Amino acid sequence: MKLSIDASIQRVPFYPKAALYGADAGWVRLSSNENPYPPSPAVMEAMADALLDVNRYPESEAELKSLIAGKYGLAPENVLIGNGSNELIETACRALRTAGRTEVIVSEPSFAFYRIAANIYGYDVAAVPLGALRTDLGRVAEMAGEKTRLVFLCNPNNPTGTIFDDRAFSAFLDRLPPEALVVVDEAYAEFSDNKLFPRSIAYIDRRPVLIMRTFSKAYGLAGLRIGYGIAEKSLVSFMERTKQPFSVNMMALIAAKAALGDERHLAFVLENIRKGRTYLYESLKGLGMDARPSEANFVLVRVGPGAKALVDGLFERKVLVRWLGGYGLPEYIRVTVGTMDENRVFLETLKRLA
Ligand code: PMP
Repeated sequence: MKLSIDASIQRVPFYPKAALYGADAGWVRLSSNENPYPPSPAVMEAMADALLDVNRYPESEAELKSLIAGKYGLAPENVLIGNGSNELIETACRALRTAGRTEVIVSEPSFAFYRIAANIYGYDVAAVPLGALRTDLGRVAEMAGEKTRLVFLCNPNNPTGTIFDDRAFSAFLDRLPPEALVVVDEAYAEFSDNKLFPRSIAYIDRRPVLIMRTFSKAYGLAGLRIGYGIAEKSLVSFMERTKQPFSVNMMALIAAKAALGDERHLAFVLENIRKGRTYLYESLKGLGMDARPSEANFVLVRVGPGAKALVDGLFERKVLVRWLGGYGLPEYIRVTVGTMDENRVFLETLKRLA
């Protein structure tokens, strides 16, 4: 006998997962925007030291909050820790539920989980298409009205790698209704070296803005699941109450603190990923392919109608990249920047297939 499931849940789409996750050897994994480098040695030491403590519940998140707050000149009460920034996407939907404001606006294509989380919590989702592959802030602002409760923006945008700048963001905030929260997902912000990138944190006490960052990308802790949000104190406090107690595990908290303490390792990662990004972009252009400039740790490429076949061909040769059919861009692929060796293997394999 089958249970009946509410129509709002029946509508929830599956998250478009990559073909393969985990640590199987022998694959060149450029499909999930992961960091190709292992984390800082300080992270591994700190985790090893804590192994015998896992019979205890995780420590309070206070220390990590203080470290993050210190980095941005904020108070710990401005910081929320999540089981990946994914948890905080959901937490925002949960904490903001209110009668009469039932709409969530997303820009698409973008990260798929915004729509999924909004659906889970019963919101109606309005999607604003990208304009020339960029977040169209003007149209998002036009779309926002009395019913709008949350607006999800991804900057740099996954999967296009484009950004909107501080001026555009500021003008956009001025146009929004006062009861709409703007969630700016900056999962890839560390990889951008653009001076015009929004100083989004400067807005948190002036406008309803929640900024989300993650340890999954630049800090290389994707497998541990930890991210953070930054917002005005009372919003953080309400979100905190709707979260699972202990949603962030002990190892993740310990690793994140150690990762924040190793700025040299972060600098190593950023330098190499930016170099690899330029190398991939220029090599692809050199092959006559339509690669797009990116501010993130991945490159978008318009391949044409053969995009899926190319991704399948690469897969057969153990090179994983993402076909963007699931994002409504069937002629495009997204290639994560790997180590220099991985970037070369990808390009060599591509040349043999093209
Ligand atoms: N936001 C964006 C834009 C992402 O691409 C991803 C992961 N691919 C996430 C959030 C999720 O990050 P986390 O691992 O912190 O949950």
